[in-house]
Amino acid sequence: MNFELLVATNNAHKLKEIRQILSPFHITVYGMKDLNIDIGEVEENGSTYYENALIKAKALQKVTKMPVISDDTGLEIKSMDNRPGLYTARFASELGGHEEAFKEIFKEIKGKDRSARFICDVVLVNVEDKPLLFEGIAEGKIDIEKEGQGGFGYDPIFIENSLGKTYASMSQEEKNAVSHRGKALKKLITYLKINNLIY
Ligand code: IMP
Repeated sequence: MNFELLVATNNAHKLKEIRQILSPFHITVYGMKDLNIDIGEVEENGSTYYENALIKAKALQKVTKMPVISDDTGLEIKSMDNRPGLYTARFASELGGHEEAFKEIFKEIKGKDRSARFICDVVLVNVEDKPLLFEGIAEGKIDIEKEGQGGFGYDPIFIENSLGKTYASMSQEEKNAVSHRGKALKKLITYLKINNLIY
């Protein structure tokens, strides 16, 4: 029997990536829409990625007993004192969108260290008594201009170190193989395998 997993996100791009990464395994991945679950906007007021991911997962834990994962992601830019970090989504929305956020970042780091990293905390609830955390980190740098047509969010300006191109210039398979989300979900898959929940 397939392992059933609900993903606590309203972000269609994230859900698509999570589905693709988990697709080789015996896992049925549901989005909230698939199960007609609407918990409205959940305020992400935690002080860590883990806490924010947990807030989203716990909101769903109230309405379902099935295993739930939630992912909280942040982009940390070294010469911006690791901003936008926890406020990565808000940084873009308050400036009017990702395009405006790219311009602001280019302006702030002009002539400075361009090192950056993406951090992704995936939290799993309803499997053990306590929530479980799987973290993925992708090291890279901010491009001098946006490049590539794929992906979403900050993908056009983040050059991942091992492949040396922006996430937006990668195929979906390439991004999944090296990305923060791909790395976090690989750890989740290992956990599910070790515990014989998938095969
Ligand atoms: P959240 O984890 O949904 O709160 O997303 C935080 C912010 O990071 C949003 O602005 C997203 O667009 C962005 N983001 C999340 N995942 C990715 C990714 O894989 N690539 C680029 N941007 C991302």
